[in-house]
Amino acid sequence: MVAESFGLVCTIPPPRPPAGSGGRFLDRDFRRSTAIDRRVAIVTGASRGIGRAISERLARDGRHVVAVSRSAAELDSLVASIRAAGGSAEARPCDVGDGKALGELIEAVAEAHGRIDILVNNAGITRDGLILRMSDEDFDLVLSVNLRAAFVTCRAAARAMMRGKFGRIVNLGSVSGLMGNPGQANYSAAKAGLVGLTKTIAKELGGKGITANVVAPGFIETDMTATLPPQVREQMLPQIPLRRFGTPEDIAAVVAFATSDEAGYMTAQVLVVDGGLAA
Ligand code: NAP
Repeated sequence: MVAESFGLVCTIPPPRPPAGSGGRFLDRDFRRSTAIDRRVAIVTGASRGIGRAISERLARDGRHVVAVSRSAAELDSLVASIRAAGGSAEARPCDVGDGKALGELIEAVAEAHGRIDILVNNAGITRDGLILRMSDEDFDLVLSVNLRAAFVTCRAAARAMMRGKFGRIVNLGSVSGLMGNPGQANYSAAKAGLVGLTKTIAKELGGKGITANVVAPGFIETDMTATLPPQVREQMLPQIPLRRFGTPEDIAAVVAFATSDEAGYMTAQVLVVDGGLAA
């Protein structure tokens, strides 16, 4: 049940009621005190592929994962598997192309947990086509999901991060946004836009203990790349110095570091994780 997944997950013992409360708990006290040890991480596009691997990795590293994507059933299965492994997670189904709903979701998470520590903007889509044939709709849709959604979440999460004097933002870019790629004018523009957005956020919020970085994957084995014809894959492989396509776990490992407490002196960077493809 999706509704069940909305509840705050608490895996540490409940605290004592505050002094002078007559032994009663206020919901607010409980929420704030149970969150002390566990950083809250929002991951968009969590239902599959790279986002799912990031969610599983962050949960394994002790984060409470707020998993966002459109498919409630897939999010519920992710949350169930994280909990079965002893982790903590909740599902928040949302279309990130709906800016109003997305902004409200971020505010609801901040209210429920009293904090947002980590934000990973991973949700992404492609609508490929050569520029001469690309429709306005396909351009706008790709920018809305890949770029505008990240602007909305960063703006909404920044307030909670500033209150906590801590924040780790990672936006998923792509080597397409750094090199350009025929057939991906919309996608490359969105991913290049994420670099400018991220560097600006890093400069605006750095003084508040908030870092912002881009992780830019190369060719990673997920649904997004599964439809590429075999001959395209064969042509690409020799161009990758490490001679293999990446896995979602390769990306998750870098995101885990970039969102860790230890990564506090790294900001405004583009971390390219592509087996050497773009070098
Ligand atoms: P994927 O397997 O196609 O998964 C995309 C994820 O985004 C899914 O969880 C999907 O969930 C979610 N999503 C898509 N549209 C959404 C929307 N409107 N609202 C909410 N969630 C939405 O893609 P992936 O390969 O894991 O890619 C993840 C990120 O890495 C993307 O930003 C992509 O651009 C980037 N990237 C991937 C590669 C690669 O080779 N795979 C390379 C460079 C960059 P629902 O369908 O359930 O909504």
